[in-house]
Amino acid sequence: MHIAIDPGAAAVLDALHRAGHRAYLVGGCVRDSLAGRAPQDWDICTSARPDQTLALFGETQCIPTGLQHGTVTVRQGGGLYEVTTFRVEKGYTDGRHPDHVAFVADVKADLARRDFTINAMAYDPAEGLIDPFGGREDLLVRRVVRAVGEPARRFEEDGLRILRLYRFGAREELALDPATARAALQERARLGCVSAERIWQELAKLLAARQPGRWMPFAILELLLPGLDGAQYPGSIRAVDALPPDPLARLAALLAPAGPEKAARALEKLRCSRAEAAEVLALVKESGLALTGEAPRLQARRLLARLDPGTVRRLLALRQAQTGEKGFAALASAAAALEQEQACCRVGQLAVNGRDLLALGVRPGPAVGRLLSAALEQVVEEKLPNDRAALLGWLRTQQIP
Ligand code: ATP
Ligand code: MG
Repeated sequence: MHIAIDPGAAAVLDALHRAGHRAYLVGGCVRDSLAGRAPQDWDICTSARPDQTLALFGETQCIPTGLQHGTVTVRQGGGLYEVTTFRVEKGYTDGRHPDHVAFVADVKADLARRDFTINAMAYDPAEGLIDPFGGREDLLVRRVVRAVGEPARRFEEDGLRILRLYRFGAREELALDPATARAALQERARLGCVSAERIWQELAKLLAARQPGRWMPFAILELLLPGLDGAQYPGSIRAVDALPPDPLARLAALLAPAGPEKAARALEKLRCSRAEAAEVLALVKESGLALTGEAPRLQARRLLARLDPGTVRRLLALRQAQTGEKGFAALASAAAALEQEQACCRVGQLAVNGRDLLALGVRPGPAVGRLLSAALEQVVEEKLPNDRAALLGWLRTQQIP
């Protein structure tokens, strides 16, 4: 068993080892390496206490990310590495935060506090894989996500782990260990204790998996997104799987049958960013979009006149996924072509502006905007080219207030 280690992470491990500490790669980077995928970040766990890590790398090379939890972020060769002291967590009386953490000397105790066996492995080039719970076999042979220890207890400690179970199942395309899956459903009310921010982070990762539908039981999702309709849910899930791995478009696919009001409430509860919520809500509101039978270019142009290009792209992917109608793909290509040629779809792109209207004798005020909108409509409907002379000529024929 050999892992090709990122050079920065190797340098951090090496420095800790030379100072006499034990240190390992841990968690996601070990899992991803075993699965044959490039890890996003390389986390390190160590016997060194945070003050020792700070002293070893120097304060200027370190960011004290979460000293009380034992985490120091170390800058090394242009990368950032989280270095966390071996620790155990005690007394999750609120179902989300440990009452306190204690630093320990043994990596195995640190691995035991982690959520799933596939996440509870550590690696050091000299010692090889430290895998006390059979994570490697679960990942590569049994192909399951399984809780470390007694599943119900682990979900009681931290309800977020219930959502993480499905997230890792979907991401790694693993089955769920039956006892773990049963406990997750039984304990699902624990999700109610978890902060909205943590829920959305995990839900977004679940929705970014290749085809997450199989790992999205209604009994769980209805707790996260109140307003979901059980009868419509199977169709929503099919649309989710048919969409590219875009969390916002997929969230809109889930919320569309609920309608804008319920969707707005669900989004509020989820506490995603304002921009994310606005985007999803726009998609839900527009999700009745139908093909008109007109030229795709014309219909695409009307969409681009009303909505941001990114929203148009998502909306057309959403409608294609919901209906399976190829016409939406044709609209999407037309919209892409219009963007490519920077075709005029907004007032700001018109070859005339407010000053031109004033020069024509229009009085300053709302009439200026109204005339520009009317000119835009001519261009969008392809009745006029976006050409200054042509537009001025047409504007002169309009009644000037
Ligand atoms: P990703 O590549 O998506 O970041 P990851 O495995 O690194 O995957 P993180 O959420 O970054 O996942 O967590 C890092 C590690 O910390 C996990 O692999 C796991 O060992 C542990 N961990 C994280 N959150 C929890 C939790 N809620 N309960 C128990 N262990 C956790
Ligand atoms: Mg991570």
